[in-house]
Amino acid sequence: MPNTLPENIFRTVFEKSPGSLLVRADVPRFTILAASDSYLAVTATTRDAILGRGFSEVFPESTNIDDAIKAQHIFKKVAETGQKIDIPSYRYDIFDPDTYTYEEHYWSCSNVPILGDDGKIAYILNTVIDITKEVKAREEAMEIANRLRMANEATGLATWDLDLVDQTFVYSPRMAEIFGHKLDEDISLSDFRSQISQDDMNNIILPSFKAATLSGDYLYEVKIILPDASTRWIKTQGIVIFDANKKPVRMLGTVLDITESKRDEIRKNDFIAMASHELKTPLTSLKAYIQLLERKITQKDDSFINNALVKAGNQVNKMADLVYGFLDLSRLESGKLQVKILPFDISELIAEIITETMLINYSHPIVFKQGKPMIINADRDRIGQVVSNFLSNAIKYSPKGSTITVSSRIMDSNAQVSVTDNGIGIRSKDQEKLFQRFYRVENENIKNISGFGIGLYLASEIIQRHQGKIWVESKEGKGSTFSFSLPIGS
Ligand code: ADP
Repeated sequence: MPNTLPENIFRTVFEKSPGSLLVRADVPRFTILAASDSYLAVTATTRDAILGRGFSEVFPESTNIDDAIKAQHIFKKVAETGQKIDIPSYRYDIFDPDTYTYEEHYWSCSNVPILGDDGKIAYILNTVIDITKEVKAREEAMEIANRLRMANEATGLATWDLDLVDQTFVYSPRMAEIFGHKLDEDISLSDFRSQISQDDMNNIILPSFKAATLSGDYLYEVKIILPDASTRWIKTQGIVIFDANKKPVRMLGTVLDITESKRDEIRKNDFIAMASHELKTPLTSLKAYIQLLERKITQKDDSFINNALVKAGNQVNKMADLVYGFLDLSRLESGKLQVKILPFDISELIAEIITETMLINYSHPIVFKQGKPMIINADRDRIGQVVSNFLSNAIKYSPKGSTITVSSRIMDSNAQVSVTDNGIGIRSKDQEKLFQRFYRVENENIKNISGFGIGLYLASEIIQRHQGKIWVESKEGKGSTFSFSLPIGS
């Protein structure tokens, strides 16, 4: 077998190649020597009609196209300079004889000089590729990016994108603006991070860790410190993208300036804190006066007044619970809810709370299924508050005379406490929302029962602060069991 390809094979290869034309470098005629099938198809001609003829004779160029992309002009330059000329993208519409219209087309072409035996430029190879689809796709992508940018600008949303593999960080101009930087500054991810208030660092670590290991998405609110030392609040929301091996490779997110609404929230919290603080003092003295009167009246044995005072005492207690609830809420929101961790026996605490509850409430029998003594490290008053809330809800939301059962036991090295009632129960769609702030079930049966929907929210925050779990199991019309569990001896 010879080591060189026979000429007819070369010819076939050429004819099958995409958009190729070979012309002689005989300026200005440029005699056409070979053309590939696809070149003929695009130019709607045949090999017989063009071979051996001059290029401009066959393809007269329209006068309204730019000189720089005229084939004639380019061939001349290649022949004269011996340099290859590429035109990466140009528009040249094609006439469609069926519709009598021109169809929009984009092309990329390359013009390569080929030397003859004498070392002079003898031929020019012109290769043209139709890139209409690619150009259209790029235009569409730009259009989408533009629309997204406009939507982001309108909503004030900033966007960022972190490549976790090579740590490349890209952000929109709005992000620099929110963080108080000039648009031409080059800001790194660690620069942005260093602006997050130290007090809020914990708000980020857990959601980011969860997103990277479990859920893939995250949301957090933090305070940032601007270069001029002023502060702003931002809300970041985003997703983590994993590769096929479940390794996190990319994080994408948006940042929104929420300073205004945060300030409103802080003002509202301050108001609640102040109002509940101011209410505490008159309430305490009211309570003291009622107790004083109760003691005096008993001696005189006036049953009507005695009864009225017990009722007044109960109402004052209810009001005190509400006021303390709001005070706790505002402490919680401003991060000032303190927990004092000390070891104590949780069964003993439950027994105490049941006794106290029964003293002021005769409507429901309460049964305590007490497990072994269980020493936990926690804030005794706060955990007592959770048990009280479960108990008072069980009383509020179950018919008079029905039994309430409290149980304590050890489950998987945790102390588990449950309060079960035979009351109205809760629909499953409401169950997951019960622990949210101000959530109350909308239900005809309970519209007359007072409450603000903060008890369970506080309870869940308290339990979370102790690294515990809180949950509910319930059937509508049958009753509910509210439980929490806390690590023993932790
Ligand atoms: P409050 O009772 O003051 O409204 P909570 O936060 O303690 O606030 O409870 C939130 C809501 O959960 C209540 O409004 C009620 O709809 C529902 N709920 C709580 N405990 C029970 C229960 N034991 N049975 C039925 N519904 C309950």
